Formats: sequence, C-alpha cells, structure tokens
Amino acid sequence: MSNRKKLGILGGGQLGKMLSMAAGPWHYPIHMLDESVDFPAGPYSMGFTEGSFKDYEAVLAFGRQMDVVSIEIEHVNTEALEQLEKEGIIVHPAPRALKIIKDKGLQKQFYTQHEIPTSSYQLFDTEDELRAAIKNGQLTFPFVQKSRTAGYDGKGVALIKDAEALSKLLPGPSLIEELVDIEKELSVVAARNESGEVATFPLVEMEFNEEANLVEFLLCPARVAEDVAIEADQLARKVIEAFDICGLLAVELFWTKSGEILVNEVAPRPHNSGHHTIESCLTSQFQQHLRGVLNLPLGSTQATSPSVMLNLLGEPGHTGPAHYQGFEDCLAIDGVYIHLYGKEITKPFRKMGHITILGNSAEDAIAKAMKVKGLLKVISQSS
Ligand code: ADP
Repeated sequence: MSNRKKLGILGGGQLGKMLSMAAGPWHYPIHMLDESVDFPAGPYSMGFTEGSFKDYEAVLAFGRQMDVVSIEIEHVNTEALEQLEKEGIIVHPAPRALKIIKDKGLQKQFYTQHEIPTSSYQLFDTEDELRAAIKNGQLTFPFVQKSRTAGYDGKGVALIKDAEALSKLLPGPSLIEELVDIEKELSVVAARNESGEVATFPLVEMEFNEEANLVEFLLCPARVAEDVAIEADQLARKVIEAFDICGLLAVELFWTKSGEILVNEVAPRPHNSGHHTIESCLTSQFQQHLRGVLNLPLGSTQATSPSVMLNLLGEPGHTGPAHYQGFEDCLAIDGVYIHLYGKEITKPFRKMGHITILGNSAEDAIAKAMKVKGLLKVISQSS
C-alpha cells in the first residue's frame, strides 16, 4: 500500500528513538540500522538491524529491504545511498545534498554558488598551507577553524585568537571562517516533501555552554523583532529549496551585531533546536520528518505555547552509570517534560537527555527552566 512504505533510518541514537516514537501513533513500520540494539532507539523500533551505517555493504543490505531510506545522523555511507537510489529505493535527504552537507567546505561553496549569505571563508588542505597563509598575510587573526568532515557538536571547531592559540589548530583539511560578531544564534527547522510543500517551525534562539561548546538552552519563539524572524524564515525556505531536500533541514543562523542574518550550517535531519516541538507545536519535528520523507502532507507547525529546551548534559566530574538526581522534583512542576535517552554511562557533557519546559510567557518558561536546571543533574551512581 502506498501509504505504508517501509521506512529505514540510518542511525539508532536518541533522534532515531524520537522518530520511532513519532511513528507510533500511526503504527508505522520503521526500521533502524546501528551498531547495537542497546542504543537509544533499540527498544522503540519495530525492526532493528545491528550493523554500521558507515559500512557500504551494511547500508546496501539494509536499504534493499526498504522502500524509503532516511537518516538521523549525517556521517553515513553516501556511496551506498547513491547505489540504493540507482536501484529505485527512495532516499531522503538526496545523497548528492548529503555529500555537500557532510563537508563544511563544500557546504560553504554551495552557499556562495546559490547567493545564500554566510560568513567569509577560506579552505586549506593542510596545516602547513594554513601557517603559510598566516605568514604571508593572506589570513589574519582572529579566525575560526573547522574540520571539513570530522566535526559535530562543536568538537571540530577551534577559535584561533592569536599566534599563541595556533597550538589548538585542528589537523587535516579545514575551513577557516572570519570570527562573526554574533548578536544571537538562531535556528529554523524547515521541512519539505516531494510534492514541493514547504513548512517552517517558529524561529528559535540558542544559548551556548561555552565550556562544552554545546547548545544548552533554547527558547521558542526567539525574542527578536518581527522583521528578523521573517528574514530568517525566508532564508531557511531558500536554503531547503536550494538543497532540494525532502524531510527536515535545520538551518543554523547567526544574527550579527550589524543586523545581517548569515547561514552557519545545516543539518538534514531532526535537530536539537527542534526538540521542543514535541510538546510545544501542533506537529513535532519528528513527525514532520516522517511526513517529509514519505511525501505525506506536512503538519501545522503552529506553536501552542512559549517553550524552553534544556539539554541534559552529564555533570562535569562524573563518569559511570547514570543516576538522575532531582527527577521526581522536576516532574512535580507543571509543564516540565523530561526526555531521557537511556544511555547507561554518563560522562562530562555527554548528551543524556533533554527537558522541554512550557510557560505562559517566555519569562515564565525561562524562570521554570532555571529552576529545573538547578534541580536535575546527571551524576554517576558511585559518587
Ligand atoms: P558544529 O557543527 O560542531 O555544531 P558549528 O559550526 O555550529 O559546529 O560551530 C559551533 C559553535 O561555534 C557555533 O554555534 C558558534 O557558537 C561558534 N561559531 C562557529 N562559527 C563561528 C564563526 N564564524 N564566528 C563566531 N562563532 C562561531
């Protein structure tokens, strides 16, 4: 039956788990490929294949059993996805878009080609070339260096302020960006289907944990003037069309102190900046991704309440079996929704879960979120 296409997802982490849960109300057959059924999506999947989504043969064998293949992580074997596409399997996002997105250098060139505003940049293949460019004045401090292919969650990003910071240089081919004077970091989660329908979720603003370089606090709707929200929304629509993506595309933006809106990077899958939609919008980003990749009508993205999303990170100084201190106290607060990813071992700053907090106003949601932040801690059982 055309509305029961067998859907396979590469990746079985927390995003896979939440995708499976979004498919639950439709009792939709969705299958996962990842290394261990003990990963977060394992207990929630109708079918779980153990194998590596980086491995050509594993992805091919898994995909051949599906009608539609999608992802919950970018670092998958794109050659296998291209082969699956040739064999008539529907693959979303399209492998050609995924190849560009996986390489931050190609992503930047794509923005230039499509006249999508982004910070100025240079590409270097080696550290020697980069150091030579500094010597001859082609590259000046400060700058931001990003690993072209190895980064995620801020791990492949180095801020090089001066010559002393050169010891922090990342190895391998890299993208160098000017250091942007950021007023606010914003995000729009957009969605599209094969029929060409596009929908965007309301604009969110992000606050970073400097030490962990991870989003720690996210507010929706963002506290910006309406014209900024409209411009961000239009830009996200332009970007998803340019990439020809079906399913979700999270568009991370910098709103600069001089008033420009620049695209930082994109992710063609459910995104941290869309987690709050589970409770705060008429359709969640996870169900929207399913609608997008299965070419079903997109759902309403209307927000029903202001919300804050907190990432629940492993407490610094704690490594070992996870224990959730303050869990019950937080459940006693109205409008607090705790999501635990079921990872057995906590480590400093490991993403262990997230919490969505709904409020009558942004201020109300922020005040409750601060309370939750003080109460809920992921510690190791032994300590
Ligand atoms: P990742 O893919 O690891 O999430 P990002 O490219 O999003 O990496 O960078 C992580 C964070 O580093 C951003 O959210 C922002 O806070 C900061 N950052 C990245 N690029 C720049 C830049 N060009 N100027 C200033 N800050 C930046």
